[in-house]
Amino acid sequence: MPDLTINDYQKKVGDWINSIGVRYFSELTNLAQLVEEVGEVARVMSRTYGDQSCKPGESKAELSDELADVIFVVTCIANQTGIDLTDAVRKNLDKKSERDRERHRRNPKLNR
Ligand SMILES: [Mg+2]
Repeated sequence: MPDLTINDYQKKVGDWINSIGVRYFSELTNLAQLVEEVGEVARVMSRTYGDQSCKPGESKAELSDELADVIFVVTCIANQTGIDLTDAVRKNLDKKSERDRERHRRNPKLNR
């Protein structure tokens, strides 16, 4: 399967919204959707890595699918607010790299 760049994905999501999704939900609705999807990630992780168990008859959702749901909604919000995610993640990683160059190495909690 060929690589899917962030830019490709932004375009694919836009095409999907315009064909299958009809239109974007409002920005605030998508914020609520994002919170909902992050909650679904938390639910899977709580049951997989934490102490919570599934209810009788409940099937555990796939973490990969829930993470993809989060990325989808983030991409919708980026598209409808005019954000180029490729540019945004590049700048964000540069910022983190500069800001945290020594910070984590010097954190005694990470070096126990
Ligand atoms: Mg989901």
